[in-house]
Amino acid sequence: MNADLSKRIKEIALELVAQKSIVETDDEVTMTEKVYEIMGRMDYFKKHPEKLYYVPVKNDRWNRKIVVAIVNGEKAPSKKTVVFIGHTDTVGISDYGNLSEYATKPEVLAEKLKEVNLKQEVLDDMASGKYLFGRGIFDMKSGDANIMAIMEMISADVENFEGNIIFAAVCDEEGNSSGMLAFVPELIRLRKECGYDYQAVLDPDYIAPAYAGDPNIYQYIGTVGKLMPTFFVVGKETHVGESFSGLDPNQVAAEITRRLNLNPEFSDVVEGEVTLPPITLKQRDLKTEYSVQTAKSTILFFNYATHCSTPSQVMDKMVKAAQECFEEVVKTLNERYEKFCHMSSRDYVALPWKARTMSYHDLYTAVKKEIGDKLDDMVAEVVKEVVADERYDSRDKTLKVVEYVHSLWSDKDPVVIVYLTPPYYPHIYVEGSRDNEKALLEAVNYAVSTTKCDYSLVQKKFLPCISDLSYASAPKEKEALDALKQNMPGFGEIYDLPLEDMQALDLPVADIGSYGKDAHQFTERVETVYSYEVLPEILYKTTMELLK
Ligand SMILES: [Zn+2]
Repeated sequence: MNADLSKRIKEIALELVAQKSIVETDDEVTMTEKVYEIMGRMDYFKKHPEKLYYVPVKNDRWNRKIVVAIVNGEKAPSKKTVVFIGHTDTVGISDYGNLSEYATKPEVLAEKLKEVNLKQEVLDDMASGKYLFGRGIFDMKSGDANIMAIMEMISADVENFEGNIIFAAVCDEEGNSSGMLAFVPELIRLRKECGYDYQAVLDPDYIAPAYAGDPNIYQYIGTVGKLMPTFFVVGKETHVGESFSGLDPNQVAAEITRRLNLNPEFSDVVEGEVTLPPITLKQRDLKTEYSVQTAKSTILFFNYATHCSTPSQVMDKMVKAAQECFEEVVKTLNERYEKFCHMSSRDYVALPWKARTMSYHDLYTAVKKEIGDKLDDMVAEVVKEVVADERYDSRDKTLKVVEYVHSLWSDKDPVVIVYLTPPYYPHIYVEGSRDNEKALLEAVNYAVSTTKCDYSLVQKKFLPCISDLSYASAPKEKEALDALKQNMPGFGEIYDLPLEDMQALDLPVADIGSYGKDAHQFTERVETVYSYEVLPEILYKTTMELLK
């Protein structure tokens, strides 16, 4: 690719990095304005200022916004459009310790890092002269710079460009994706108003080695999804002096963890690509004080990655697994109690526990049967209260609703309630069975195979980390999303997604991004030869192929 473009990408990347933009701070807004300023310097946007504008994030504490920039080719009329997204926020800088003031100054940082103890690999990379260090330089301001420089180049010669490019520089990717979620309805609006025919969403977010010593650089066509199946375990409290009279919810929770945690039985496998198995993100009983009374209830939830499982399928699998775990606990308790009775010369009578597991939706239905339709209003009221309560995050808010609904039930016996904790990221599988999927796969394949370089470039189907790309689509099966809405308490209030818009977009996605290492660590660094010389060529060719 031409040397001027590479130089320009580096320039823009450094300009973006110089502006601190830690997620959920006011700096995110300044950052967005910086992107607007850089784009605004381009002749094309000076001539067409209406094609560069902000879209605000709704009800946002920091008043964040995204920048949308549109280039319309003038060579021949075409509705074909490639959508680019790039996030402009970064994670914090506390990991830099006493070097944090240099986190946004790659040149000084490189010098200062020489005074720190570093792994051999980092030292080698440093000595190679190919790497730049700094917060956000890899995740993902070098990716943003690629899009911006390519748009600058294309827009400077717009008479010879056919098709359209829409770029959104989005905020809050490292947080709750509120930037992307503001962009999705904007894409729908633009399509209605201008008739754009979207081909795909491309996101040049960072690409890391998949394992230590991995020689490949990946292009991911599609993305992993994520759900958080949650178990609200109601046991039976007791005094520790009569411990066999209770049912310890921690024991049921422990059994569920033993069964699910990092168990590949729950991995999704698609085209040989395997999701990481579930892992707990929280496990805790809900007793607030110390006492010799055992806990009444426990909560645990898992990060659950998906390549093909829908929310309804994950719910089914989790209800089944929890039921088996609960049965196992009842069996174990009886064996232990029998042994204990034998040792202490008492008569053994089987414990009264019955294993049972239900979805939140089933709980809701059971309570509604008792209380009637006014349950809907009562729950809506509680949802309103917890939404306003700043002590809780959306995960705790959801739990509060589950606790409330369960408290209304006349049945106080032990039970496991399975529900979904926010957030939800749909996976996007670009199978190649539809025209737009095939076109994207072919475009990337063409771009990669015709780009000469010394790197081993490998295409995969699922970006392994969750990202904004998930929101370019949503499952079309009604029952898949019904299961989500019915089992994520307060959905639409505590946590919301523009599901209908996502379904309507229904776009294939790809992450073709800059290469580097150690994102989210103080040794975050971008490899500049690939990221500034090879990547722009791949991105440019992919775009041109899609618009052909
Ligand atoms: Zn990122």
